[in-house]
Amino acid sequence: MTRTFSFEAAHQLPWHPGRCRRLHGHHYRLEVTVEGPVGPNGVVVDFADVAAVAEREVVGPFDHSYLNDVMGNPTAELIAAEAWKRLEAAGLAVVALRLWETAESCVELLA
Ligand SMILES: [Zn+2]
Repeated sequence: MTRTFSFEAAHQLPWHPGRCRRLHGHHYRLEVTVEGPVGPNGVVVDFADVAAVAEREVVGPFDHSYLNDVMGNPTAELIAAEAWKRLEAAGLAVVALRLWETAESCVELLA
């Protein structure tokens, strides 16, 4: 099952030769996919349970933040990896995670 989230955040990539070097923001979209057997209630996991964990561990801390304060080099790849690490540490059986930085560009991590 997959649950989608969004957050707004600022970052800059000091190593970048182009415009990404400058301070700017994105409307990020995060898709979290969890895998497992369908339980007696007919669900893999309650959408609300995934939402509670993702909002507590990732969306809340990242929303309206300056991502360079969270990690040294906040590329989409490394933000996605950090999100995966936090969700997994909180007990979610994440098997795929997509982070959309713009409407056209995303990174995908797979288990
Ligand atoms: Zn950017």
